[in-house]
Amino acid sequence: MAQRDPYEVLGVSRSASADEIKSAYRKLARKFHPDVNRDDPAAEDKFKEASNAYEILSDDEKRARFDQYGTTDGVPQDPFFNGGNAGGFGDLFDMFFGAAGAQQGGRRRSASQDGDDLRADVQVSFKEVLTGVTKEIEVERTTNCDSCNGNGVEGGGQAPQCGNCQGSGVVTAIKSTFLGQVRTQTVCSRCSGSGFLITNPCKKCAGKGVRAITETVTVNIPAGVETGNRIQMAGHGAAGIRGGRPGDLYVFLHVPEDGPFVRHGQHLLTGYDVTVAQAILGDEVTIDGIEGELGFDIPAGSQPGQQVILKGQGLPPIHGGKRGDLVVELTVVIPKKVTETEASLMRDFAELRGEKIPKGKDGFLGGIFGKKK
Ligand SMILES: [Zn+2]
Ligand SMILES: [Zn+2]
Repeated sequence: MAQRDPYEVLGVSRSASADEIKSAYRKLARKFHPDVNRDDPAAEDKFKEASNAYEILSDDEKRARFDQYGTTDGVPQDPFFNGGNAGGFGDLFDMFFGAAGAQQGGRRRSASQDGDDLRADVQVSFKEVLTGVTKEIEVERTTNCDSCNGNGVEGGGQAPQCGNCQGSGVVTAIKSTFLGQVRTQTVCSRCSGSGFLITNPCKKCAGKGVRAITETVTVNIPAGVETGNRIQMAGHGAAGIRGGRPGDLYVFLHVPEDGPFVRHGQHLLTGYDVTVAQAILGDEVTIDGIEGELGFDIPAGSQPGQQVILKGQGLPPIHGGKRGDLVVELTVVIPKKVTETEASLMRDFAELRGEKIPKGKDGFLGGIFGKKK
């Protein structure tokens, strides 16, 4: 951030008194504080600028240096001084707005913790994919302790602020370095950064503010889902702590290959064995579809691997619309052994068609033919 004249930033004269400077800063800080301008990222920059200006003009030594040199070189600016985030302005903010302001401010907010998201896995059959299905699943998660309203304090009141860090969870120290004075922040050791010290923990949850439950969650699974789809159940994750929001539950769907069907998106592929006679002459047959028996025609003159497409017997698309197809791939099953009569008919068949009459080998009763010759 290019440094602007701090007097200009705060809109005060060069001869402004400490009170005038404080009052000008206070107005700007209220106007641009990130917590009241969450939708306006430019406000944070203005807030930082005002805070930097105030850091200079509220410090007699820095103000004098600025007045003399028109700069505060040697006075570390953002990010050294302010840590690059609004948290660094915390104690200025506290000074003006008091503890109540601080509770709504960025620093105190860090004491609340949003709950974790959870994952559940659910199996869905092809038949369920066809129509959609409602499933009840059991989820083990935490919920806010009802005895202490999630605060962890016996009786349900607010947890008392940690005196060591005034509820901020961090302890600030000013160190002199070759860059000038650098403010460092460390996690408060007394409250481990929570900002609270619970002296009278809730007996029901031992001060944790949450307890474990098994929740039955009803999941509405739409038609057309496939493996990898997930359904987000807002607020069914782990409980937030000290006013944090609960996490979400993500239900991951698994649609295993079901029976003889292989899925290709909305289409299903399956195989069907036909005899040589069926392949040659054609036939009417039935097959088990996902909803039950389906009749279909094997065309005369079917070739091995030929596909018969049963329109609209596949799966529906996830956003609604026409079902895909069931594709039946034909396998022509050639007999591995035939009797002498069958062999004779095959030879006649070949002869009728003007084909070369096969001599026959193993499996074609070649031995017997051999003996007969
Ligand atoms: Zn409790
Ligand atoms: Zn503390």
